[in-house]
Amino acid sequence: MSEVLVNQDYSLVVRDLEKYVTLFEEQFPLEDFAKGEFKQHPAVTLLTCSDARMPVTVFGPIFNRIFSVENIGNQVKTSAGSVLYGLLHLHTPVMIVAGHTDCGAINSANSNFVDEPMAIRNELSIVKNSLEDILYKTGFVPDEDSGLKFSQLAELNVDMQVEYLLAHRAVANLVEKKHLIILGIMEDLHNVHGNGHAKLYTVNVNGEVDPEVIKSYSNLGFIADRARRLTQVK
Ligand SMILES: [Zn+2]
Repeated sequence: MSEVLVNQDYSLVVRDLEKYVTLFEEQFPLEDFAKGEFKQHPAVTLLTCSDARMPVTVFGPIFNRIFSVENIGNQVKTSAGSVLYGLLHLHTPVMIVAGHTDCGAINSANSNFVDEPMAIRNELSIVKNSLEDILYKTGFVPDEDSGLKFSQLAELNVDMQVEYLLAHRAVANLVEKKHLIILGIMEDLHNVHGNGHAKLYTVNVNGEVDPEVIKSYSNLGFIADRARRLTQVK
């Protein structure tokens, strides 16, 4: 047994589970579930980071509403089958790719991770490749001195995931026919933008990265109003 596990006192954590499981059972929306013939009817496919500070609940109720795919660094290529399943089989009209500030996966992908177990190396390599792809594509040079570097990379990483999705012909077709909108979101947990902690910003809509253009999308309301970036990469 590792010291970390002892320090975490798993017995308390396990006991907490009873509280949360009971709450789920009590609040289970059985009527709605029955109306939908007990089938899955999600409205959103969400690809987000596994980071515990980046909960799926940012985007509202989860049950039968959000088809959620989570992995380190919110990578399409780590879970491409799951993401495409949400879009091509469950036909959600909205796809959200969500990244966040101080992302451990983004930071680690920029470090030497050769001593990690193979499975972690594999996933960090996917993150690293995404960052290399987007830096090559945009020519952007991260700001080494301002402390913004990793938040800039996390933002660009979201852009790259939108690009990977649009590279699938079937996904691009859905977007062209307006059956699907792909939103790239950054969660500013650490107040990097200076407007407060945990503010959400729109960085990408269907591959469009210019905040002024996104702000003009009048049918997107709040999502358009929140268009704001750390990196200018027209
Ligand atoms: Zn993360």
